[in-house]
Amino acid sequence: MTSLTHCHAFFDFQDTGVGKSSIVCRFVQDHFDHNISPTIGASFMTKTVPCGNELHKFLIWDTAGQERFHSLAPMYYRGTAAAVIVYDITKQDSFHTLKKWVKELKEHGPENIVMAIAGNKCDLSDIREVPMKDAKEYAESIGAIVVETSAKNAVNIEELFQGISQQIPPLDPHENSNNGAIKLGRQTSQTGRRCC
Ligand code: GDP
Repeated sequence: MTSLTHCHAFFDFQDTGVGKSSIVCRFVQDHFDHNISPTIGASFMTKTVPCGNELHKFLIWDTAGQERFHSLAPMYYRGTAAAVIVYDITKQDSFHTLKKWVKELKEHGPENIVMAIAGNKCDLSDIREVPMKDAKEYAESIGAIVVETSAKNAVNIEELFQGISQQIPPLDPHENSNNGAIKLGRQTSQTGRRCC
């Protein structure tokens, strides 16, 4: 018997253009769109992946980067199990903005939130502005997962979500804590098949 765990990943309000939507699209649909349209507000997708004997269902909010949506951020990160914070390895500014969002999550996010940092566009490493060493040191200092990804070339996307899956603690089936935002639950399933 395989159990299905509903977990929830939240994509931060990082600057538009770092590749958040492309990462979600690659993960959920294994597709890359060069002309992907910008996210307005937030979009929502799900994908279930096997993790050991369990199935983990990701409920993913891909949130818009524009400043005008900043005040909506707590609506998405409240009650969430994990946050993926994306920067663009070719844009130092995006790495600074990432730190701002980590600070906000630490101060106002759920206590045990799993944080994952994704340095996207690693296919453009010849024009990189953010050394991998800096990202690793920073991630270590805040206890976050870190990985360099390329949504374009499908590099480390599965690994990013597998890493999160492994760190999210199993949910208590008797606990029905839904503090007004995200519902987390656990149910049994007979199948180990992947689905979106
Ligand atoms: P978002 O605003 O953070 O959601 O970013 P998007 O997913 O809309 O992507 C912004 C731009 O970056 C688009 O033109 C994408 O085609 C491009 N892009 C996204 N991921 C990658 C990547 O891994 N490599 C490269 N070279 N371009 C990417």
